[in-house]
Amino acid sequence: MKITGKRALVTGGSRGIGLGYAQALAAEGCSVMLIHFQDTEKATRECALLAARYPGARFNACDADVGNSTAARKAVRNAADFLGGLDIAVSNAGICKFAPFLELTDEDWERHVATNFSGGFHVGQEAARLMVEKRNGGRIVYTTSVGAFRSNGTQTHYCATKGGLSLLAQGMALELAPYGITVNCIAPGWIHTDINDEASRDVSAVKPWIKAHCPVGRLGSPEDTKSALIFLCAEESAYVTGATISVDGGWNAQL
Ligand code: NAD
Repeated sequence: MKITGKRALVTGGSRGIGLGYAQALAAEGCSVMLIHFQDTEKATRECALLAARYPGARFNACDADVGNSTAARKAVRNAADFLGGLDIAVSNAGICKFAPFLELTDEDWERHVATNFSGGFHVGQEAARLMVEKRNGGRIVYTTSVGAFRSNGTQTHYCATKGGLSLLAQGMALELAPYGITVNCIAPGWIHTDINDEASRDVSAVKPWIKAHCPVGRLGSPEDTKSALIFLCAEESAYVTGATISVDGGWNAQL
């Protein structure tokens, strides 16, 4: 896969799936800007580890709320300035509060829409503008979810944002194809990270879920999502756009 030397940003890059993506890109010879929200200590530590392991590349961290247009766009421009350009933008930051629809507050709704959906717009549009300006193509990848295809009690709001993100990516794929920019999604299933740590440790919840939903027979880890990202970011994947790769142990394939 031709990807060495590319310049990438990853939102939600301080931990979980986003950190896994950043590590995978670094291992392939990319320089990476980790964008996170109020997770400076962890992001700085992870950058230092990457810099020590891959001395030929550049790493930095940036605290920005992707749900805030000004902050998100500034973070994308900062990333391009630091990296000397931008080839890959991974819009991965997301939140998920479990709450029944009837109990959901306006604040919950707006926070999820801002972070998960509008954040994808702010980051994706700013990155695309930079890529179009340079006329050197590019790769934009969104982390959606198995919840982008079907909804789930207590995650109605979350799934709505992920469904929206999926269609945003498809529209962008159509409009950006003439510029050599691909836009794709990775739709994880249940991946054990901080977002679901409590539930992931609860054996009484995990075991029945695996039996009912996961042909592969285990929870996923950030490690499982890395290969899909590298595939989508590689030069060889120029003909793959508007697509979604499920990384869900078979969850979405079932009736
Ligand atoms: P996580 O909680 O471990 O990491 C979330 C990351 O997003 C952190 O780096 C955090 O700083 C960042 N973030 C949160 N709000 C932000 C904001 N407003 N602005 C900028 N950054 C912000 O979660 P994760 O499981 O690694 O989730 C990553 C993505 O994967 C999310 O979009 C999530 O919806 C999606 N996803 C996760 C799972 C799963 O099972 N873990 C399944 C499907 C989809």
